[in-house]
Amino acid sequence: MAKNSKVFVSCFIGALILASTAAYAEPSRDSNAGGNILTMAVAWKQTAAEYRALYYQGFNLAAQKVKAALETRGSGGKPLAVLTDLDDTLLLPLNYWGALIGSGKDFFDDAIWDNWIPKHEMIAAPGALDFLNYCKEKGVEVFYVTNRDQGKDTYDLALESIKRLGFPYADRDHLTVLIETSNKENTQRAIAEKVEVVCYLGDSLNDFKRVYYVQDVDERIALMEKDKALFGDRFIIFPNPTDGHWIRAIFGESEPPASDENRQKFKEAAMKNKAEL
Ligand SMILES: [Mg+2]
Repeated sequence: MAKNSKVFVSCFIGALILASTAAYAEPSRDSNAGGNILTMAVAWKQTAAEYRALYYQGFNLAAQKVKAALETRGSGGKPLAVLTDLDDTLLLPLNYWGALIGSGKDFFDDAIWDNWIPKHEMIAAPGALDFLNYCKEKGVEVFYVTNRDQGKDTYDLALESIKRLGFPYADRDHLTVLIETSNKENTQRAIAEKVEVVCYLGDSLNDFKRVYYVQDVDERIALMEKDKALFGDRFIIFPNPTDGHWIRAIFGESEPPASDENRQKFKEAAMKNKAEL
């Protein structure tokens, strides 16, 4: 047998041994080992028609609230208004999350986020622009209240992001950007002195009331349960399975570092309710 043929045969036998070893290898004890814990949530945001339908549902409810308020409003009252969050409520950062997955990140990455924001690649949430234009057409003011921090340009970047998408009321009287705190209550109270807020829109409970800003998962759920009649009515909530204060309730911080300890905490959170198999 020529030298090359010997090499080929030994390689072939070696490949067979490897293949049979792989076929009969013990299955991994943890099928998630080595996987990216963010993948499923991001895949849902990127592909699910249901994700988009939930935005239509939210904005349809908000429009009904506005319509009813216009019909029942007496004369001489305060002007009507809607108070809304921006990110993941009116604006979707979908390709940021896709880039995170593509680069192997499995936790929110603040540095990548801060570099990404000035690119202005947020897209309008399904139904957002129609709802905002409906408000404008009916003379109902919209106040945008967001908390972001991209340094000295934070405010201008936020204003530019809503101007580029053609949102009405994209001006300094209607946009508040909270940099030092995520507590929106002082701003909400100041706005509510001037106008009658028909409904609040947000993807985090904190967009509605600060009382929900607690670090315990069960306490947070119990506080929300006390207000259950308000959701879909005064409070219109949108879905966000990748980030927000629900993360803070698990980890003690909204943007926990990517560590094995935190990956384990996520796994324990996923087993909060767990059947015996
Ligand atoms: Mg938000």
